[in-house]
Amino acid sequence: MPTREQITEALKSVIDPELHHDIVSLGMVRDIEIQDGGRVDVVVSLTTPGCPIRNHFQNGVMEAVGSLEGVRDVNVGFDVLSQDEKQSLSQRLGRGGGPLPAGSLAQVTNVICVASGKGGVGKSTATANLAAALFAEGRATAALDADVWGYSIPRMLGVHGRPMVSADRKIIPLETHGGIKAVSIEFFLDSEDQAITWRGPMLHKAIRQFLEDVEWGQLDYLLIDLPPGTGDVTMTLAQLLPHSKFVIVTTPQEAAQKVARRAAETAVRYDIELLGVIENMYGEVFGEGGGQVLADELDIPLLGKIPLTEGVRRASDAGTPIVLEDPDNPASQAFFHAARGIIAATPQEIRMLATPVVAGITGTPLPMAP
Ligand code: ADP
Repeated sequence: MPTREQITEALKSVIDPELHHDIVSLGMVRDIEIQDGGRVDVVVSLTTPGCPIRNHFQNGVMEAVGSLEGVRDVNVGFDVLSQDEKQSLSQRLGRGGGPLPAGSLAQVTNVICVASGKGGVGKSTATANLAAALFAEGRATAALDADVWGYSIPRMLGVHGRPMVSADRKIIPLETHGGIKAVSIEFFLDSEDQAITWRGPMLHKAIRQFLEDVEWGQLDYLLIDLPPGTGDVTMTLAQLLPHSKFVIVTTPQEAAQKVARRAAETAVRYDIELLGVIENMYGEVFGEGGGQVLADELDIPLLGKIPLTEGVRRASDAGTPIVLEDPDNPASQAFFHAARGIIAATPQEIRMLATPVVAGITGTPLPMAP
């Protein structure tokens, strides 16, 4: 039979998919007992009693311990971490290490990160146009500019200024084009072209604040324009928003695809669902087909193919995405197609991922506006 130490060692292969650490270093292994006849009992402590990833732990523990020599039977039990234990867990994870506190995005149904392998492929253009297209399709939509070093959402959506702060000290997003909400780092800078030099913890804090301290309200879609590549911001968001989904933007060229694939791999590593690929700038200059190749390779849909046309850039520079300025343009049609693909692939009701804001209210509910 293996020793306790060997079993503990084996349990280090069981990773908490939300906290991204193994259950041993997270202190979630409560008890290990070695019984006669090759049976091992393991008790795992969960952060919440109704933990949806319970099965994940059950299977992981059975596999890890069951593969040790001499083990014939594995019994997995569960209990719940005490308040103190949870606190020390979040300390161990470091500042802002875990997911957001319950309730932060309680009224947001879908969080979609728009990613790319490198800059200049049209990721921000896609974010702005998808936000506008989803809004035009009747969905409550917001765009969060997390591309802190290359923010361009304010320019592309034509929205500038300083947001108001609500009575309970939450940032109110600015609104544009009839109700598309937007938050960008630009809104908090002293001058529009002030350089951002944040790295590491500062950056992490800013991103966290965008999610936690903004009054997003009821949203069908929160689109997040990520910085290119797979740096700090992407990692932070992947940790903070384990339920977010990724859309990958690529140009038709092979080189861009390679980097896009790396972005996709990051999403997979963090257990984030990939919704699909958007190929941007296809046409005579860059050719076409790279998006389809990438989509096939990742086994996800190609959501849309956007042609390279002067109109896309001109509309963005003027602050009105082409889908609003010229909805019949082939590029707009392609963005609408992608937006409908996103709608088809995402839930249309509030997922109970976080505690709803109304929890705990007793008495007669107020009549809600339709
Ligand atoms: P990224 O966010 O990937 O860095 P941007 O969205 O800022 O890229 O796009 C880079 C430049 O290319 C911008 O000037 C934008 O207007 C332009 N652009 C993006 N997509 C297209 C397109 N389909 N046709 C023409 N110009 C485009």
